[in-house]
Amino acid sequence: MLVSVKAPAKINLTLDALYKRQDGYHELEMVMTTVDLFDRIDLFEKESSSITLESSSGLVPQDERNLAYRAAVLLREKIGIKRGIHIRIDKHIPVAAGLAGGSSDAAATLRGLNRLWGLGLSDEELAAIGAEIGSDVPFCVYSGTAIARGRGEILAPLPPPPPCWVVLAKPGHGVSTADVFGRLKVDEIAEHPETEQMAEALRKRDYDHMVRLLGNVLEPVTMEMHEDVGKIKKKMKEFGADGVLMSGSGPTVFALIRQESRARRIVNSLRGFCRQVYCVRMLGVRTESVLDGIRT
Ligand code: ATP
Repeated sequence: MLVSVKAPAKINLTLDALYKRQDGYHELEMVMTTVDLFDRIDLFEKESSSITLESSSGLVPQDERNLAYRAAVLLREKIGIKRGIHIRIDKHIPVAAGLAGGSSDAAATLRGLNRLWGLGLSDEELAAIGAEIGSDVPFCVYSGTAIARGRGEILAPLPPPPPCWVVLAKPGHGVSTADVFGRLKVDEIAEHPETEQMAEALRKRDYDHMVRLLGNVLEPVTMEMHEDVGKIKKKMKEFGADGVLMSGSGPTVFALIRQESRARRIVNSLRGFCRQVYCVRMLGVRTESVLDGIRT
């Protein structure tokens, strides 16, 4: 038997760090939403009890270091079963990009195995297991749109953003999330995003307000290390983006645009300048019921 699950990428409409906690993590407040750029996870039942993994991308580990693999191991431990599984990842989300690709693969694996093995675990239970793998995994279990607090694992759902185009541009290099947070000086943050106001803009479906409120305290940190982030932002603005921001710890930059023709113009302006460019729709709603499938 096989189950296929789609794993969407997320972007941050806001990302704020309030203070550094005693446990070393930053206390975060962020508005996250999904876009229609997906990895596809196929989960195949096996005769043996081993877990194996293959990925279409050479950029992600193909062994126990892969977050999808870790999700399968942890779920088996929690449930106390030893059923084997082969995980196949068809990778489309850029890696180490600030789009939560690995977290989304882990969340999709948890959701898919819950279904394949008939475990009947709730989203809350899957999210709690996911939190042991990574801070963004709980959001990815639910997908959609939410305010995330704590390390990112405390979630409050929000309505989806108003419809628009999203152009994503990933510079040639990746970024280590730990490295970026390590360089962040919370006391020196010049401007904190208005998280509550962003939530209100989404509730009111106010596109202009949403675009004005985009903000990410990690952007200046990553920009200082990688000047191409600033260059991409500038180009996107010049070519008519309504709003532009780096997602997560970067280095992917996204532009929000109402008009399709302008979105296409921005994509064209980035050709030859940035290798990984995507023009996708804002999604912001839960994907599971529409996109998961089970076959025998
Ligand atoms: P976030 O936005 O949650 O910080 P990210 O988009 O910046 O995540 P990922 O693409 O998740 O970063 O990759 C981060 C690291 O995790 C990479 O070094 C990668 O090798 C490793 N990794 C492990 N499993 C996966 C996976 N299934 N997909 C992508 N990366 C993975």
